Amino acid sequence: MWNKAFFLDRDGTIIMDKGYLDNPDDIEFIEGIPDLLKKIKEKGYLIVIVSNQSGVARGYFDENTVRTVNWALAEKLKAEFDIAIDGIYYCPHHPEYGEQKQCNCRKPKPGMVLKAADELKIDISRSVMVGDKESDHIDLKELDFIKIVKDENWAQDSRLKKYII
Ligand SMILES: [Mg+2]
Ligand SMILES: [Zn+2]
Repeated sequence: MWNKAFFLDRDGTIIMDKGYLDNPDDIEFIEGIPDLLKKIKEKGYLIVIVSNQSGVARGYFDENTVRTVNWALAEKLKAEFDIAIDGIYYCPHHPEYGEQKQCNCRKPKPGMVLKAADELKIDISRSVMVGDKESDHIDLKELDFIKIVKDENWAQDSRLKKYII
């Protein structure tokens, strides 16, 4: 049986977008979102974070910093809300900076979603992507997309009804 998933952008969707976040102490959940994540999990969805982190390509921080922040985020969700994140993927690249300018993982490219789907046995056509930017609209026809407002509590978004009611 293949899984269904909520693919979620990180900054501006789950936590406040503080711009090139590099310190776990600056992780601040958007109000209402942890409770929503809990509901999503109760409905049988995997929660997979897919995040563009071009701060790496730009030289603002290294991949270890990204992993440290992601790990702290997952730990916090577990410790404070008993929510287990099923996967966290990030793209460290940028088309204009760094050694690797071309990649298949920077959203809207589908690399991260395809990798997660393969590793976690996810049926993309039963899944949805949520993000606050146009670039979160992953280039995959089968994957539904809900665009929200940056740093907004989107727990009441009527488009969620299709999935969690
Ligand atoms: Mg974002
Ligand atoms: Zn990439």
